[in-house]
Amino acid sequence: MGWNQNTVPKSYVALPAVGRIQAKGPEAAGLHDRILPGRITGTLTFDIVAVDPVRVGSGRPERVGGDKLVPGIVFGPGNQPVIPGSSIKGMLRSLAEALGGGCDTQDCRPPCVVCALFGQISGNRQLMGRIGFGDATPPGKKDVRLSLASTPRGFRPRRPVGRRWYRPVQAPDAKKIQQLAVTPNSRFRGRWQLVNVRPDELGLVLTAAGFDGSFLPRIGGGKYAGLGRVRFEPVEARLRGDYRTGRWTVLSGEDLQQHIDQWRKAWKPPEGANRVLAVLRGKA
Ligand SMILES: [Zn+2]
Repeated sequence: MGWNQNTVPKSYVALPAVGRIQAKGPEAAGLHDRILPGRITGTLTFDIVAVDPVRVGSGRPERVGGDKLVPGIVFGPGNQPVIPGSSIKGMLRSLAEALGGGCDTQDCRPPCVVCALFGQISGNRQLMGRIGFGDATPPGKKDVRLSLASTPRGFRPRRPVGRRWYRPVQAPDAKKIQQLAVTPNSRFRGRWQLVNVRPDELGLVLTAAGFDGSFLPRIGGGKYAGLGRVRFEPVEARLRGDYRTGRWTVLSGEDLQQHIDQWRKAWKPPEGANRVLAVLRGKA
């Protein structure tokens, strides 16, 4: 299996995945040259609320309580903690791959459905994604609090072991180290940029983000130790009408929730997706 069984956390479970599904039609080419009718173009603003302590590590030590140094987290402008867009993209892409028939390779051409949406760089070829993720930052100064999370030493398989999923942790292991994290209920606000996204494609990403309410995705480090569960909450959508009218629609509250439910239901789970969902929901 490539790693010492004794080091595998008890919360680990291998996440199954739907087999690769080829992108069809104009999606395979990128669709960036004009705004298409019947597609979603604009921005969606979401809050990401920490349910567990969340730790997106910076790889740098931070000084806490005088001269004590602990592994730090990513800070942005104004010395505020941020969740980088790349972390949000990584989390959602990985789950969208497993659920939607994405690939797990560097060289996917013609692109699969997930590379066609999230983009892909392969050699000197680049396929621009139609969904982009900005950094998520605290909407107000008091929305994020820092604390120290005690976690067992990092779990690093010696070889890639496929997609991993971690169940809630009952009894954490013994040897621990302290690391900087944000506390539960910390809130970050971020945006997704959409260009010519089909409703079912957005539905896949919303499902990966846990919008059906049946599971919480995990972000950042220490997942094996019970860190990182987050809840997405919709804030606002600004959607462009077709290119002839050029009008924008702004949605929030109940209107936005209804649109999110519609987009989510536009995604029809491919064969095997229910097995993946069962693992995410802790029912397999
Ligand atoms: Zn692919």
